[in-house]
Amino acid sequence: MARDYRKLAEGLIEGRTLFDVPMRQLTSLRVGGPADVVLFPKNLEELKKVLKIAKRKKIPLFILGRGTNLIVKDKGIRGWVVSLTQGFRRVFFDGEFVEAEAGLSLHQLVQYTIQKGLAGMEPFFGIPGTVGGGLAMNAGAWGVEIKDLVHSITFLKEDGEILERESSKLHFSYRCLSFPNPWVIIRGRFRLKRGRKEEILEAVKSYSERRRRTQPIEYPSAGSIFKNPKEGPAGKWIEEVGLKGFRLGQAMISERHANFIINQGKATAEEVLHLMEWIEKKVYEEKGISLEREVRVVGE
Ligand SMILES: Cc1cc2nc3c(=O)[nH]c(=O)nc-3n(C[C@H](O)[C@H](O)[C@H](O)COP(=O)(O)OP(=O)(O)OC[C@H]3O[C@@H](n4cnc5c(N)ncnc54)[C@H](O)[C@@H]3O)c2cc1C
Repeated sequence: MARDYRKLAEGLIEGRTLFDVPMRQLTSLRVGGPADVVLFPKNLEELKKVLKIAKRKKIPLFILGRGTNLIVKDKGIRGWVVSLTQGFRRVFFDGEFVEAEAGLSLHQLVQYTIQKGLAGMEPFFGIPGTVGGGLAMNAGAWGVEIKDLVHSITFLKEDGEILERESSKLHFSYRCLSFPNPWVIIRGRFRLKRGRKEEILEAVKSYSERRRRTQPIEYPSAGSIFKNPKEGPAGKWIEEVGLKGFRLGQAMISERHANFIINQGKATAEEVLHLMEWIEKKVYEEKGISLEREVRVVGE
């Protein structure tokens, strides 16, 4: 079957197509086995073609951003992985809205808004994902969520229809946007306020410093592993049950931020997942708190 997935992808688009790519190369935690096929459509026509063939041939699809919120299992991903990071990176401002394509990095989006003297996106500087991934995850930091700034999201449906939905009609929750599985986010429109460039830059600088101080950003990780439960920050509970610095193979609970698992070099997804299960068990047994996963686990 894997062979068919590959054959069906050969020569399908002009955009880059990779075969048997270790997902550790495409994810920030640097774990994960091979994806059969990774397609980088160059434009909307190519993306439509990919979705159409996948639907017709019943090929499992996974939409990848920059892989910064993912744990891909060690046997990898069967079917097609589709990335918009090469063909969907435009951004412009029409005087009212900033429109950013899904493959643009959040980092570049913030830089663009700074250039335009628009305020609001500063907390997102330092979140290493894409606009598409940020919207799909309802990314947030320092009390601001992307849902607070987005005016509308444009999706491509599997039948090729393009649909723009205003944010008031979308279902955002903590680190989640609910939408039907095969839909692809192709762009978002953001409404931002005018601001003074120096103040925006000052805010960006202060958020970056805070991040550097509190997060192990020099190591491969997938960001926060668990959502903060209503009882308080997940990291606090993990620290209180004595797991800071605890390791399994080369996967380790960060000394700097207990809600981060870092890869010390050659960690496997299995080690990371066992560590997560251990955290869940200890925090539940000792604190009576059920931690919910923020990272998404994919593959086999
Ligand atoms: C050091 C570090 C710090 C981080 N700090 C934060 C933080 O402060 N706040 C925060 O919220 N997150 C944080 N994260 C997590 C992560 O960066 C965010 O969740 C980010 O928004 C994920 O974007 P991505 O492009 O990497 O998505 P991926 O990890 O590639 O994908 C995440 C999910 O989004 C889906 N998706 C991606 N693109 C699309 C699309 N175009 N259409 C449909 N679905 C799509 C994927 O299928 C997947 O289910 C951090 C991660 C790291 C490594």
